[in-house]
Amino acid sequence: MWLYSAMSGVFPRSFMAKVFIVVSVGALVPLLALLGWAIVGRDVFPGERIEVLGIALAATVLGITTTLLALHEVLKPIYRLDETIRAFEAAGTAPPLPFGFEDQVGRLMASTNRLILSVDDRIDAERRAAETDSLTGLLNRRGFEARVNEGAVGAMLMLDIDGFKAVNDQYGHAVGDTVLRDAAVILASTLRRRDVLARLGGEEFGVFLPGLTIGDAREAAERLRSAVAGQLRAEVEPVTMSVGVAIARPGLSREALIAEANRGLCAAKQGGRNRVCMAVVAQGGMATA
Ligand code: GH3
Ligand code: MG
Ligand code: MG
Repeated sequence: MWLYSAMSGVFPRSFMAKVFIVVSVGALVPLLALLGWAIVGRDVFPGERIEVLGIALAATVLGITTTLLALHEVLKPIYRLDETIRAFEAAGTAPPLPFGFEDQVGRLMASTNRLILSVDDRIDAERRAAETDSLTGLLNRRGFEARVNEGAVGAMLMLDIDGFKAVNDQYGHAVGDTVLRDAAVILASTLRRRDVLARLGGEEFGVFLPGLTIGDAREAAERLRSAVAGQLRAEVEPVTMSVGVAIARPGLSREALIAEANRGLCAAKQGGRNRVCMAVVAQGGMATA
């Protein structure tokens, strides 16, 4: 790399300039030889010397120019590699480079494509892991927030297992974990594909139902509650859930919507558990349960 390094001192930013110098020096050798011959051998064909030199100069300039234009095209894959890697660094995505070429540059393009795909896969896997609850496989709070936009229209449900501490105390933590996993399966199988289900805390689940209005939301909440009450067991003992419901409205942040659903949940707990409660919104916009 000595020549490349040395030339980088003169042309730090342009690969084409380095190529230009190498090509020019190479192409100028015959011209210089001819010039030497013209100067030293004065007596040889004196009348034709200037003419020969002129033709050689013109041919050299033409040769260098066309060679450089052709080289510019031949070197395009290197520019494309540079652009692709920069685009991937900046935006995390880049169109694939041309493939099917088998020289060094072709292999470099193919391995860059593979590298970008594998980095992409790894980033996806890490993002998925960061947004997934490892016990139930549901979304965690971060995943939930990534999928429920501020201002989204729909209904928010907060669901909490009733008397879960007693389940742990009576049957042990492992059975408690199984109850959490089973609850996740029951909730997921009762929901539509577009609904967003997450485990937001210990034994607390959140559901966002896009587009649902108050009546439908209450119905959906009741369907979830009764599916859990009918199917969820700790060993043989039935386990239930309480549900709080809130409806998104303009100006209500996602955090406030969740807080409102939580107030509904508190009301359901206070009302005796295994029930659905709406967060009632008073005239001034404040929610009460
Ligand atoms: P309530 O009906 O009022 O909701 O009562 P509760 O017992 O369900 O609620 P509490 O908040 O008193 O207890 C929640 C329990 O959930 C306490 C905690 O140890 C347990 N818990 C939290 N995360 C996990 C977990 O990942 N696995 C298990 N097995 N238990 C958990
Ligand atoms: Mg609980
Ligand atoms: Mg709880």
